[in-house]
Amino acid sequence: MKLADEPIHLVETAFNGHYAGDLDVRVADEVYDPYLEGLIEQILVRLGEDPQREGLRRTPLRVAKALDFLTSGYTTSVADVVNNAIFAEPSEEMVIVKDIEFYSLCEHHMLPFFGKAHIGYLPKGKVIGLSKVARIVDVFARRLQVQERLTNQIADALMKTLEPQGVAVVLEASHFCMMMRGVQKQNSLTVTSAMRGLFRRDARTRSEFLELLKR
Ligand code: ZN
Repeated sequence: MKLADEPIHLVETAFNGHYAGDLDVRVADEVYDPYLEGLIEQILVRLGEDPQREGLRRTPLRVAKALDFLTSGYTTSVADVVNNAIFAEPSEEMVIVKDIEFYSLCEHHMLPFFGKAHIGYLPKGKVIGLSKVARIVDVFARRLQVQERLTNQIADALMKTLEPQGVAVVLEASHFCMMMRGVQKQNSLTVTSAMRGLFRRDARTRSEFLELLKR
């Protein structure tokens, strides 16, 4: 295809391919949450933007959907995600699920913080499906959070759900509100921990867990 001969046609093709929704009235008129979308449009105006320009026309809709997903933890319960995946098991040996990635929003700036969760527990007759541990992390991560509370909520939820001898939760996270603004420290890592039951009472259990995290 000769670019110079058909510039307009080329543009139309690309436009149809990538922004088909904007050309289709039915899709372009999609409304998800009119009130929230209106607020986001006002923010765009306040920032000096033109919400009617091509690239921003569907932005309020997209942001509303994204925010809804990123805060979906408010409408999810631990019981729902665990969904009876608790199994009787006589083992009383330590179970550790490491490097569970999570994404959350700091409640002070509504900017992301993200990192890894490491979770251990000592069963007392019951074990939980391993993927469910990760799902419990998401229930609490997908809210406006502070890392300290997120850590505690995960630990308490596991204590309540499993009634184990103990639970240990360590979270390592980077915070956009520190990286992109404020002190602008890109490489700082915030580490929080919550110890329950034996992990709190018994130093040897705690250090066994922390030692295993280093591997
Ligand atoms: Zn923040």
